[in-house]
Amino acid sequence: MNIHEYQAKELLRKHGVAVPKGKVAFTVDEAVKTAKELGTEVVVVKAQIHAGGRGKAGGVKIAKNLDEVRKYAKEILGKVLVTHQTGPQGKEVKRLLIEEGSKIKKEYYVGVVVDRATSRVVMMASEEGGMEIEEVAAKTPEKIIKEVIDPAVGLQPFQARKLAFAINIPGSLVNKAVKFMMGLYQVFVEKDASVAEINPLVVTEEGEVVALDAKINFDSNALYRHPEIKELRDLDEEDPKEIEASKFDLNYIALDGNIGCMVNGAGLAMSTMDIIKYYGGEPANFLDVGGGATTENVKEAFKIILSDSKVKGIFVNIFGGIMKCDIIANGIVTAAKEVKLDRPLVVRLEGTNVELGKQILNDSGLNIVAADSMADGAKKIVELVK
Ligand code: ADP
Ligand code: MG
Repeated sequence: MNIHEYQAKELLRKHGVAVPKGKVAFTVDEAVKTAKELGTEVVVVKAQIHAGGRGKAGGVKIAKNLDEVRKYAKEILGKVLVTHQTGPQGKEVKRLLIEEGSKIKKEYYVGVVVDRATSRVVMMASEEGGMEIEEVAAKTPEKIIKEVIDPAVGLQPFQARKLAFAINIPGSLVNKAVKFMMGLYQVFVEKDASVAEINPLVVTEEGEVVALDAKINFDSNALYRHPEIKELRDLDEEDPKEIEASKFDLNYIALDGNIGCMVNGAGLAMSTMDIIKYYGGEPANFLDVGGGATTENVKEAFKIILSDSKVKGIFVNIFGGIMKCDIIANGIVTAAKEVKLDRPLVVRLEGTNVELGKQILNDSGLNIVAADSMADGAKKIVELVK
């Protein structure tokens, strides 16, 4: 789960990580009022969306007086920002962060991630802050310094010092940078984050080490341990189809193609998407209905897939292992009738009671195309949506 920059900054502040003073605003008047309260010479008006790259897209503006705050707040609120992280459709801005302007001396990068290769949490730092870190990683990977953290002891101060020196934080500020990194790591571990990225971390003219941007993602599977984090969820930022799916314990991720997929098991779902692509089609979603899916689950899954107007056909690829094929077939038939299925449906069933399952599909009177194998099913649905 993702949260907004202003929420991430509040969380960091509580853990002793320095961030600029600031507050969220939902309206232009609120933005001006907050700026007045801040009382600083320079105020920054920042679009709050769950995506980076806002600066380049015109979502971060420096205001020198209250009139400018009003002007920028008006301009940014309601605007659809398109950045390299939003996708071409962009994201509408519904919240602003109004914060004090920092006198930036230099911008750096600090990030904490889970590194699958080492199975460890890794802290990364770079002197090349502010810009897209992906670009730095691609073109000058040597400019990203990493420290692998032993989970038994956590981030050690000597490691943070090493990073601070390696990215050339001024000597007199190294201790502040170390405190910053230790606080950031503490938030990451305590809150079960999956990514915590500060880009830029800045050194100011006054000699402070401050987070000017903050992006924190949390492991959804650990949210039950953090009700205070769960509360920060902003459903406006999420795909409504994915929200609906999560209510029914369906693992659903919307994609750009036109073939809806309904599959049980994440591995089978992945290979189903692969084989659709292999035969020249494009999957409209990843969907794992789970090993013990009920008729109810199958019905909801159908509804969600069909609510996507891009979907031109559905491929159901189910292995009846825990659940028997006849039960699945009944679920499909009930669901297809109830949702008044109006698009081609190819079904491939395999496993226990498969013959009975196929019989039920054939007798249903519905226009269901039976497939003999995964490849056969993929070929058929790709053909049908053409
Ligand atoms: P994004 O990464 O989405 O573009 P950032 O929060 O990193 O958004 O802002 C982009 C740039 O705007 C920063 O690199 C920094 O130069 C400037 N900036 C952001 N916040 C402030 C601030 N409080 N004071 C001064 N400059 C800021
Ligand atoms: Mg940034």
